[in-house]
Amino acid sequence: MVSFMGHRDIVRERSIRDFRMNSLHCPSCALQLQRRLLAVQGVEEVEVNFLEGMVRVIYDPGDIGSRDLERAVSAIGRQIAHAEEEHDHANERLTAASGLLLAGGAVAYLSGNPLLGIVKNVAVPLSGVLFGLGAVLGGFPVLRRAAAELRRRLLGIDLLVSIAIMGALALGETFEAAALAFLFGLAEWLEERAAARARRSIRDLLDRAPKRVTVLRDGRELELPVEAVSPGEVILVRPGETIGLDGVVARGRSSVSEAAITGESTPVTVEEGDPVYAGTLVEDGSLEIRVARPARESTLARIAALVEEAQHRKAPVERFVDRFARYYTPTVVGIAVLVALVPSLLGLPARTWILRALMLLVIACPCALAISTPVAMVSALVAAAKRGILAKGAAVLEAIAGVRFLALDKTGTLTTGELRAEVFPLDGADPGEILRIAAALERGSEHPIARAIRALAGDGDSLPDVEDFRALPGRGVRGRIGGEEYVVGRPELFRTLPEAIREFVVSGKSLVLVGKPEMPMGVILLSDELRPEAKGALAALRGLGVEPVLLTGDRAPVARRVAEALGIEEVHADLLPEEKLSLVEGLRERGGVAFVGDGINDAPALAAADVGIAMGAIGTDAAIEAGDVALMRDDLRGIPELVMLGRRALQVVRANIAVSITLKLVVAGFAFAGLVSLALAVLIGDVGASLLVIGNAMRLQGPPRGRGN
Ligand code: ADP
Ligand code: MG
Repeated sequence: MVSFMGHRDIVRERSIRDFRMNSLHCPSCALQLQRRLLAVQGVEEVEVNFLEGMVRVIYDPGDIGSRDLERAVSAIGRQIAHAEEEHDHANERLTAASGLLLAGGAVAYLSGNPLLGIVKNVAVPLSGVLFGLGAVLGGFPVLRRAAAELRRRLLGIDLLVSIAIMGALALGETFEAAALAFLFGLAEWLEERAAARARRSIRDLLDRAPKRVTVLRDGRELELPVEAVSPGEVILVRPGETIGLDGVVARGRSSVSEAAITGESTPVTVEEGDPVYAGTLVEDGSLEIRVARPARESTLARIAALVEEAQHRKAPVERFVDRFARYYTPTVVGIAVLVALVPSLLGLPARTWILRALMLLVIACPCALAISTPVAMVSALVAAAKRGILAKGAAVLEAIAGVRFLALDKTGTLTTGELRAEVFPLDGADPGEILRIAAALERGSEHPIARAIRALAGDGDSLPDVEDFRALPGRGVRGRIGGEEYVVGRPELFRTLPEAIREFVVSGKSLVLVGKPEMPMGVILLSDELRPEAKGALAALRGLGVEPVLLTGDRAPVARRVAEALGIEEVHADLLPEEKLSLVEGLRERGGVAFVGDGINDAPALAAADVGIAMGAIGTDAAIEAGDVALMRDDLRGIPELVMLGRRALQVVRANIAVSITLKLVVAGFAFAGLVSLALAVLIGDVGASLLVIGNAMRLQGPPRGRGN
């Protein structure tokens, strides 16, 4: 588990303790645990993630001993797991034992056939004893937790099942009791495995980087764990090996597959000076890499941390399931009590109706539903991350599933952002001078235009110094050189414009003007290329019913040219960042809006959209921080993929809710008609439901429909 909070929080004199719980598999247990821990003196915050089985407690170390937490936890019949390997297998063994006893009992019962020579009045009681024993062993963990629940005056699922087991025993239905205990244990085991698998899939993301690397120290090769290597040191990675740490190539040349981070399997060629990332695979050459970041801050670690954090942020549909589970249980108990009592009081056969009430309790158990939802969401988040699409929460999945418009920025988003610049002087000014002024001012900007101008000017050392620099987002830059004020940017930044720029303005190319605020000295024309995948991505989105809308700060002729090439119908040009923002807000009145931009000057629109998608070639902090989604390889096809994943996840969750409720209603109906036994009810309503909904949720981890790679 990756955590960035540790040291900072010690400064505030708060301690954090993360621990794993042995059996924590429903929202109501999680809630109960949270309440209990909050009641401990000194505990300030408790975060329980029942899918992960993880609990995080933030507390004042002066107020609390470490045993206090353990005691609080054991008071509700649970235990802290001290290490992953120490996973408590006791419950599984008890379930297995009850299964064996159940089978043994069944054999004994059936062998009460005179043909086998065993006397019936030996075999039947023997089977009763075996069944009873099975019920007691299998029911033990449930009973223990239920007793703790009772002490805390809580109504949980364990209590429901315990009542049912004891009730069946009391009525002499030993077979039913044993079957119930065994099957409930089995369902629980299935659910725990599903949660564990979802957990593991997040950790798998991290495991794609090796734990040990070869470091060059004093001319010798040392093999060390990644944590022992500090930034600035040089590691050696041979062909076929995976890079262990983020860094910059110091020597060598190789193709590197970045599939682990970007999902893109076509390798890129790296050489001296190029950045490389932990988790990527060196294919054909040896590389010496100067480490740039400690292991826990690598891009890969941040991706894993984000996915991990993402699953804490619940989607509205998940919150619905949680709430549902919470009110559902007490309601069912109430009804069961009525079913047991009322008919008996009316003179109907008590035994039949008590059995029916017990059945109702069993059928009511909503565990499978509660676990399948986060499993579905985590599966989708991990599947997205593996394709280089970082979504920051299950809520994002739900929001993107319902998006009707995709608003797109142009420069750097629909186009590659690798612009080519050309200088045209006005009124006999010196082109070299214009370029030097422009490049000097653009040193302070990260905009693709700035990069293109700097690239054209070449060597940065010979450029003049700039004072009072100011970036005007979406407009340009300004500053003073040698005491004189200069501007680089849109025509509106200049007081007067010469007639001569008209021919440039009507051209289909982007332009910026350079000069003093009164009057430009020259024009820089910029040509950029559409991203090759843009057209296909937009077509795919339209196929999904998502309408693209172009929002650009560039001029109308350029915007029209791009829109025509891509078949975008709605186009807004000449926009300032705040106008992009209000247009996004306007679109929201017509339906859900996603906005995709290159993450730096599009921040307001990214924040205003229902889903903000940042283009972020790997490693760009700004892109990972901004927005709800980061496209790690700047590939627009990630957007239709994410829309599909979101829709599939939502479909799975909705289908699961529908299936489990229907299944339970049907089983309940049969039970009331006296057509199924308790054992059959739990088999269908619990084990069956678990298998069905969890299996459905797990499908999201598989390859998505559509594009494969
Ligand atoms: P887009 O919406 O196409 O990504 P922006 O909103 O980033 O465009 O910028 C709009 C316009 O503002 C650009 O076409 C350019 O004329 C001007 N501009 C923005 N940033 C800069 C800069 N750093 N240098 C010069 N001009 C700039
Ligand atoms: Mg842009």
